Amino acid sequence: MNCIFCKIAAGEIPSNLVYQDEHAVAFPDIHPAAPVHVLVVPRKHVQSVAHLADTDLELAGSLLLAARTVAEQAGVADAGYRVIINIGDEGGQTVPHLHLHVVGGRQLTGHGTA
Ligand code: 5GP
Ligand code: ZN
Repeated sequence: MNCIFCKIAAGEIPSNLVYQDEHAVAFPDIHPAAPVHVLVVPRKHVQSVAHLADTDLELAGSLLLAARTVAEQAGVADAGYRVIINIGDEGGQTVPHLHLHVVGGRQLTGHGTA
């Protein structure tokens, strides 16, 4: 499948993986919106939250725990941070492989990455 995040997760495109587990990998966003901006991506191709199956319960939960660990490792857990998931066109999703943005390292306002 010609999916950039599948290729990064599979190691076909070199990337600085800052975290990996059975279900997911994490790497810095190429256009960081904040001092800490890491993407948590499932190894399995799932297009978006809207495409998760009921049987993806463990996968879905592990992504959130991975985001927590990424934030701890990045040193923003105590100060606070944001986990963002964009879904579909109007949700602002530009890469059609489910990903969690872990954003922090500065004061965030509003509800997006701003
Ligand atoms: P979305 O708008 O789909 O929620 O977020 C996609 C994110 O992926 C954007 O923040 C964008 O900067 C990032 N991105 C797109 N292509 C690449 C890539 O090839 N490598 C990395 N590390 N990030 C990417
Ligand atoms: Zn994919």
